[in-house]
Amino acid sequence: MATTSATIGAAESAAPATEMTVARPGNELMSLYRIESDLVELMAALDEAEDEETKRAIEQGIEEYLGREVRKVDHIRGYLRYCETMIAASRLAASEATQMSRIWQNRYESLKERTQQTMEGFQVKVLEGQAGKLLVKRNGGLEPLDLYNEELLPDEYRTATIEMPLTQWKAIQAVVPGAPEAKRAEPDTKRIRAALAAPCWLCNAKGGECQECGGTGKGRVPGARLNERGSHLEIR
Ligand SMILES: [Zn+2]
Repeated sequence: MATTSATIGAAESAAPATEMTVARPGNELMSLYRIESDLVELMAALDEAEDEETKRAIEQGIEEYLGREVRKVDHIRGYLRYCETMIAASRLAASEATQMSRIWQNRYESLKERTQQTMEGFQVKVLEGQAGKLLVKRNGGLEPLDLYNEELLPDEYRTATIEMPLTQWKAIQAVVPGAPEAKRAEPDTKRIRAALAAPCWLCNAKGGECQECGGTGKGRVPGARLNERGSHLEIR
């Protein structure tokens, strides 16, 4: 079987992504990617399955298919490539839709603003039409606060956000009355990794019957451990 290691890369096909829909592949696309209709039908049916029983049956069908066909690499590889192309096409469609909504939002804001400016220019508060009216109204809520020069603000009007080891903060808390509790204390993954990689302080990396490390010979951090790296499939 082919090799293994992959990210979802650029689809290799020459077919332009924009011409595709997110629905099922057409016959041309299917033959382009050498996808067998069995697999396509099964994958689509899985999406449409409404109850758990049907879903399990389809999943079993897919597993059986893969078991039978895994040596016919092209079908499975083709379907994975097809997925990559469809991901790219759907992302493109989504970004185009976002752009379109931005355009309409801009038109809406722009015309509203011009109309308001014109009405204010003529000192008109209400314009009556046949279907409805346009009103210029004062905003509710707080008056807008304008921090026009933050550097001039005295310290008592500012809040500091500080990042430091929790041990340091606790030392400060111990001597500063009224120092607040830390809002959040994020795991310091760099320090945790270093501590887990360091040799065990008790057995000095000898392992064996060590009570501290349990025989690994490595450092211990309560509540943290390193798991084995997983594996992944690379499509080439
Ligand atoms: Zn040890």
